[in-house]
Amino acid sequence: MCGVIGVFGHPEAANLAYLGLHALQHRGQESAGIVSSDGRQLHWVREMGHVGDIFTEERLRRLPGSSAIGHVRYSTTGDSSSKNAQPLAVNYAHGQVAVAHNGNLVDAANVRSRLEAKGSIFQGTSDTEILLHLLAHSQECDFSSRIADALRSVHGAYSLVFLSESSLVVVRDPLGIRPLSLGRHKKNGWVVASESCVFDLIEAEHIRDIDPGEMLVVDAERARSLRPFLPEEPRRCVFEWIYFARPDSIIAGQSVCAAREAMGRRLAIEHPVPADIAIAVPDSGTAAAIGYARASGIAFDQGLIRSHYIGRTFIEPAESIRHFGVKLKLSPVRDVLAGRRVVVVDDSIVRGTTSGKIIGMIRAAGAREVHLRISSPPTIGPCHYGIDTPDRSKLIASSHTVEEIRRFVGADSLGYLSLEGLHQSLASVLTSHEHRGLCDACFSNRYPIPLPVPMRSRQLRLLSV
Ligand code: AMP
Repeated sequence: MCGVIGVFGHPEAANLAYLGLHALQHRGQESAGIVSSDGRQLHWVREMGHVGDIFTEERLRRLPGSSAIGHVRYSTTGDSSSKNAQPLAVNYAHGQVAVAHNGNLVDAANVRSRLEAKGSIFQGTSDTEILLHLLAHSQECDFSSRIADALRSVHGAYSLVFLSESSLVVVRDPLGIRPLSLGRHKKNGWVVASESCVFDLIEAEHIRDIDPGEMLVVDAERARSLRPFLPEEPRRCVFEWIYFARPDSIIAGQSVCAAREAMGRRLAIEHPVPADIAIAVPDSGTAAAIGYARASGIAFDQGLIRSHYIGRTFIEPAESIRHFGVKLKLSPVRDVLAGRRVVVVDDSIVRGTTSGKIIGMIRAAGAREVHLRISSPPTIGPCHYGIDTPDRSKLIASSHTVEEIRRFVGADSLGYLSLEGLHQSLASVLTSHEHRGLCDACFSNRYPIPLPVPMRSRQLRLLSV
């Protein structure tokens, strides 16, 4: 769960990267950074915190040049510390290089041990640093070949942007698990970003996705598209469409908002219920709730309001307040809820704790009935490819039936979108080619990239406790 951006050939590269990171802030709130190149050397700013707090005018002035890469981080591998903040930037035999990564390398621990045994010294614990060591060890003679060489030694999900003094290299893993889009700035320059919502903000034209397995090499002379890996059937992450991506982004040529609405429509067909109003858990459930309301004919209303101003840390009052954490984020609208039969739509249940609190809050506001509808199938498996999900043992649906979960969250009824329904909803908005190539491992346990042995045995231990 991270966001990346790359800009090449624009006089205000770092400023554009900064604006782009604002649009990607939902993909990671722990740390952010930008590395720029003035053609002779790299410059960088990396800090813990939010984009708007880190990049003061003075700090942006420290990032000259016409190319830049940027990153917002939400740690899935490696701890949350400034040592792991990205982009990482190093000096090596061929000059300077920086990298920003969205995704997760499944064999990071094994590759790192091999490199350490050969004498590599690591500063942080993120899987991304491994790529820089592999790059430095490569015997290939040009930058893009060294990157391809390094990537052939690892497995997992990666959407990557690399910056040298003179070029930008962008790569998406052969399965295309995490998104990556290509845009062209109206005045001049190339832009790549995790999501196309960046292009709307900086007024760049969205051209297309970077293809799974594609490497784009951009320098002062030209932009070249290369295919350095053996072709594989793509496996784009379905969870980007369900929860993670911004609804105004376009992935694989289709609107995330339209996909969510289709899921909500299908949910209404699979799990109808007589009710007076359909409400969303904002913001993640909004588009699906609109779809549910449209397909069922139940009026959509705003039963919950979300605060956008909660900080990352807070002090809990000594006097106990029930459901304190959720109340900071969501407030019920009594006038809308009191006396009504309510269908509440959310995108997913992970541990099951949030849903219970929300249902308690809706009931306390006077709702007569509360029916929970989830616009994805039960989450039964952790993601090893870059979405932050807890261990299988903490995923409520991995060990409880739908009826047991209903009782746990205190709903009058509970309905999840079926796996088939999820695929049919996506099939209704994607081309048949794109729809075939999806990763739904968190709902099906069908993992497209096998885990190396130590991780797998850790998993089995978890399963057996
Ligand atoms: P839980 O209490 O663990 O069941 O949390 C469920 C809520 O978390 C839902 O409202 C989802 O929108 C949200 N959610 C789902 N996946 C993630 C994720 N990977 N990171 C953060 N929030 C998530």
